[in-house]
Amino acid sequence: MNASMNPGQTKVEQVKLLIDGQWVESSTTEWRDIVNPATQQVLAKVPFATKEEVDSAVAAAQRAFKTWRETPIGARMRIMLKLQALIREHSQRIAVTLSAEQGKTIADAEGDIFRGLEVVEHACSIGSLQMGEHAENVAGGVDTYTLRQPIGVCAGITPFNFPAMIPLWMFPMAIACGNTFVLKPSEQDPLSTMMLVELAVQAGVPAGVLNVVHGGKDVVDAICTHPDIKAISFVGSTEVGTHVYNLAGQHGKRVQAMMGAKNHAVVLPDANRVQALNALVGAGFGAAGQRCMATSVVVLVGAAREWLPDLKALASKLTVNAGSEPGTDVGPVISKRAKDRILGLIENGVKEGAKLELDGRGVKVPGFEEGNFVGPTLFSGVTTDMQIYTQEIFGPVLVVLEVDTLDEAIALVNRNPFGNGTGLFTQSGAAARKFQNEIDVGQVGINIPIPVPVPFFSFTGSRGSKLGDLGPYGKQVVQFYTQTKTVTSRWFDDDTVNDGVNTTIHLR
Ligand code: NAD
Repeated sequence: MNASMNPGQTKVEQVKLLIDGQWVESSTTEWRDIVNPATQQVLAKVPFATKEEVDSAVAAAQRAFKTWRETPIGARMRIMLKLQALIREHSQRIAVTLSAEQGKTIADAEGDIFRGLEVVEHACSIGSLQMGEHAENVAGGVDTYTLRQPIGVCAGITPFNFPAMIPLWMFPMAIACGNTFVLKPSEQDPLSTMMLVELAVQAGVPAGVLNVVHGGKDVVDAICTHPDIKAISFVGSTEVGTHVYNLAGQHGKRVQAMMGAKNHAVVLPDANRVQALNALVGAGFGAAGQRCMATSVVVLVGAAREWLPDLKALASKLTVNAGSEPGTDVGPVISKRAKDRILGLIENGVKEGAKLELDGRGVKVPGFEEGNFVGPTLFSGVTTDMQIYTQEIFGPVLVVLEVDTLDEAIALVNRNPFGNGTGLFTQSGAAARKFQNEIDVGQVGINIPIPVPVPFFSFTGSRGSKLGDLGPYGKQVVQFYTQTKTVTSRWFDDDTVNDGVNTTIHLR
């Protein structure tokens, strides 16, 4: 698709590739518009890079790895310190672009950047994070120690919903560990990602250490099959993540694939009612439900069933408007295609017999009539065979189920194919402890609606939400981006006694 000009717009920016420290205009013939989801204004156009361009980016990263892996850890840390300072300085400017291309509110865009910035701050501690272990005298005069060495060229493939946070989950830690990197941002909203990449270059990341190629399936597949790429971090839908995991795995790569979700919030009748309802509405409809950790299913247990009218009343008060406008609670969804899919699923929910308590389909936003808006939508009477329950909707749609006991609620959550995030609302420590122990979900919140871990822990996931055993950031990602080498050594003085020949495997 070619970018079209907007009335009053004189020039549509062409997003560049970053290869070997150079901002490169792609020679591709395939371009896609980057569109403001509230106005349909074309903000820029993004190239779908050619195979040769992907190869050049990987070759640059491969060359740069030879010197970057030898760069002192303190020098790498200082670049991360500079990067965190630059992101702080420019975050409001980036938030405006992020909100324009993605649709979320300015405050939420600042949050998107901040949660990524925290990972950069953590990368500044790489000196201690990347330390190995050492045991003295494992046998007479013999020591064993481990080295955590970088693995080579790594790659990252990111989704549209967090164009700042998720790229920052990936390249800062990979680079801080001594690897070089090829990033493939979402083709739907790469502008804010590119602003962060520019800051990384400004912070002193050397040529070839960080490269960026744009595109869709062809570029992703070229990355998954490239012989010189050692590890791939993927974040996106379960369908694409499974494809990436399988294809890259067949080509011998280390892969972490963080994927789709259906996050259940279980509400016990003893919970703090006001706080729980606020949390459910914020986590269900904030960012137009386009967070991988958004609450998408509410499970009302026992007498908490009676809270449904209050939930509906609170959700109906939310303001739907462009992310740029003050007071907005729910912005547009990313594309017309995404909106049509969400409307189709709502339609299906009605056909399948769920009760549509709050219908966000007809919402009109004055001044933004072309925007991809869907208002807060609430279904009750939902059963586990309905599509609105089985599929990730990724829009401002909350479905409510009812059960009698905590045991039933836990069984329900564990039967769902996804296992990304979940929450329990209760004042009972015993119930909370049982829930955290028995639930098979990666992130668990106790009276916390969106329990995204801070960067000294790791993001994780179960079942259909994650493939690969190590998650982004925290200690796990240092393991993901390094290879452990175990050295066993012995040194001889000139007067060491002759041991004689040892034909056993014993160390003496
Ligand atoms: P997506 O899977 O459509 O796209 C993700 C990436 O894959 C993009 O860079 C895209 O260009 C590429 N891609 C798209 N189609 C492809 C194909 N057929 N073959 C190869 N590559 C392809 O995801 P999205 O819509 O951008 O993001 C939303 C999804 O991401 C949701 O499912 C959400 O739950 C998930 N997500 C998960 C996490 C997590 O940590 N678990 C975090 C954020 C988002």
